Amino acid sequence: MKQQLLSSLVCVRCHGALELRHAVRLGREIARGELVCGACGQSYPVRDGIPRFVANGAYAASFGREWHWFRRVQIDARNGADDSERQLAATTGYGDADYAGRRMLDAGVGAGRFAEVAARKGAEVVGIDLTEAVDAAAQNLRGYERVDLVQADIFALPFRPESFDTVYSIGVLHHTPDPARAFRCVAELCRSGGDVAIYVYARNGIADKAPDLIRKVTTKLPPQVMLAVASYAVFAYPLYRAPLLGKALRLVAPISEEPRWRWRWLDTFDWYTPTYQWKHTYPEVLGWFRAAGVGDLVADAQPIRIHGRRQLPAGAPTPAARAPARRAA
Ligand SMILES: [Zn+2]
Repeated sequence: MKQQLLSSLVCVRCHGALELRHAVRLGREIARGELVCGACGQSYPVRDGIPRFVANGAYAASFGREWHWFRRVQIDARNGADDSERQLAATTGYGDADYAGRRMLDAGVGAGRFAEVAARKGAEVVGIDLTEAVDAAAQNLRGYERVDLVQADIFALPFRPESFDTVYSIGVLHHTPDPARAFRCVAELCRSGGDVAIYVYARNGIADKAPDLIRKVTTKLPPQVMLAVASYAVFAYPLYRAPLLGKALRLVAPISEEPRWRWRWLDTFDWYTPTYQWKHTYPEVLGWFRAAGVGDLVADAQPIRIHGRRQLPAGAPTPAARAPARRAA
């Protein structure tokens, strides 16, 4: 972590200010140390450059494994593709000029695919994740001066309210036990006038039936076993491309049909292993935004991508003055 992160971190138990002790620095990076709450005395370790507010990945453990096994697959800077860049732009509505000067929260950073894009385009990014995926992200994002990673629970985030110009969460909230509450926890970290952007799974009616049934079994298997099971998608892919057989297979056992085999394996694993996988409707998700004081909503076509601007009522407490983020005309 960088020294500057300290001023926006708070104790997750009492929201007290944290003091850094026993710091071991490597250049600008605080590699090790201890964050101690001045109010309640709770302490949180900084290990491998990452402040740790949770002990392990809990319900999201499969993602911790996933982002180590597939660490580089979706990183644009590593694979020469621009999938992550396009997804981030589609979710936030940002053009290239909108990133510079913004402080952005990536809620559920995984291996860092979107944080990498935002940082490359000039944003300061803080990525949080419940799991040891933060360590995979740290490796992928090494070299970016304005990136920090924090291992934390989305329901108990260690930041002062309104710490960020933009908060985004792409493909994460539906994997928590309570997506609506997770949304509130993330949105309240956005300053008034800042942007909130998310992507969550949509309900697909009948097409959800077979995978939902399969998930009743696969979510109970150890991640290592599921890694092997999901490799089925790598090899069975040609069968799914056959006209009639493909249609039948898609009905009973859908897999990712991404042409790149590593992505196909990752996406299939990603679909069948998470403990929670909620699916939502637009009215439901639009309701989350409105309840959090986020307006000017822009909703993309399926799947559910929505972004908007947070406007707190006049007189509501505002954060320590932050310069308003620039926005391209
Ligand atoms: Zn405390």
